Amino acid sequence: MMKASIISVGTELLFGQITNTNTVYLSEQLQLLGVDVMYHYTVGDNPERLRRIIGLAYEDCDLVITTGGLGPTQDDLTKEILTEVLDDRLVTDMASLDAIEGFFKQVGRPMTENNRKQAYLPSRAVIFQNTQGTAPGFALENDGKLAICLPGPPREMTTMFEKDARPFLESKSHGLIYYKMLRTFGLGESALETAIEDLINAQTDPTLATYAKEGECSLRIASKRATAEEARTAVCEMERAVFERIGSYVYSDNNEELAQVTARRLIEGNIGFSCAESCTGGMFAAAMTDIPGISAVFDRGFVTYSNRAKTEELGVSEEILKKYGAVSKECALAMARGLSERTGSRLAVSVTGIAGPDGGTPEKPVGLVYIACVFDGKEYCKELRMPSMNRYRNRKHVVLYMLSAILRITDAASE
Ligand code: ATP
Ligand code: MG
Repeated sequence: MMKASIISVGTELLFGQITNTNTVYLSEQLQLLGVDVMYHYTVGDNPERLRRIIGLAYEDCDLVITTGGLGPTQDDLTKEILTEVLDDRLVTDMASLDAIEGFFKQVGRPMTENNRKQAYLPSRAVIFQNTQGTAPGFALENDGKLAICLPGPPREMTTMFEKDARPFLESKSHGLIYYKMLRTFGLGESALETAIEDLINAQTDPTLATYAKEGECSLRIASKRATAEEARTAVCEMERAVFERIGSYVYSDNNEELAQVTARRLIEGNIGFSCAESCTGGMFAAAMTDIPGISAVFDRGFVTYSNRAKTEELGVSEEILKKYGAVSKECALAMARGLSERTGSRLAVSVTGIAGPDGGTPEKPVGLVYIACVFDGKEYCKELRMPSMNRYRNRKHVVLYMLSAILRITDAASE
């Protein structure tokens, strides 16, 4: 297995001015390729320190991936040092020079001398053209040491990784890797691990790894065999075993977001819907409108925060509000019913709850939430007790529960 270090170059990173999203992205991608990431380094735009870190990284890694410090502004710091460490020299790469000139023509800006310098590249390198900016990236090898240099701006970096660096790394790995990323909702990481503990303990190939994310859990099943077909068969077999245990929690076998999967269900099923949100204040509508094509089925969303709004917009009776309160099963259902009647949507979704940190009582603690749906005339209601006291996280999490609830109740309709 290849061992890698990721080096992020940029003083802004050390100052805390930007978040190091490149390292997060690359770590995830390398994992998927079966490359072991051993270290993350962050270093400022300083040649001596960068040289020292590169030396350190190669002490126990065969692959070093850098991002940043490739552009014209830092005097090509990363490129020059790696070229020196890997015993090469910089020469003008004509294809890169053409590409850079073409880029400036296209955006109608004059090209400066330091832009020309970006076409100086190691003579033995495999060059990665930059379709999103000017600085080319490259892969360079020497004496069992491999370096991959990528630009700093995330869009340039990810585009180049997908287009060139990943295929390059795949061609380097012996045997073939096939993997699947299952996404689950409603199971904590420890519950997920317990459910498949024996499979995890017995694993050699395929391997199983769990990843926890805000309210969600992913499971990666990966296999490396002599041929892609063998690896795929092994992964599918393991996937079946996993599905037997936790199949009802899996919403994607393709690493998709829950909002995406739920939106696709609604669009493909031609299920028109509306929502009325209290505690999430429009976050559900926002999550839905993030998805292209949702306009075919999304009718409208209300933010009915006050009792008066619940009454005026949705017809929730004063009696329900007085007797049960705004955070109650009765109120959530009355909201969904009113919404369904007023909009005629096939699916009406409502939510009401106490997001915190204040406003809880012993009977109605912070984190108590009700989600209700009216779908094809049938009513559903779910009570949640969110453990977290964090207001924003609670609300984000509630949106995931709403999406998951919709996926479950529309399941039969989609068949
Ligand atoms: P440029 O041609 O834009 O100068 P570069 O390869 O020299 O590219 P840097 O100058 O190091 O890259 O970084 C450019 C910008 O890219 C930074 O200001 C920052 O916004 C973003 N960036 C750099 N490194 C990272 C990182 N590790 N994570 C997220 N963003 C980053
Ligand atoms: Mg720069």
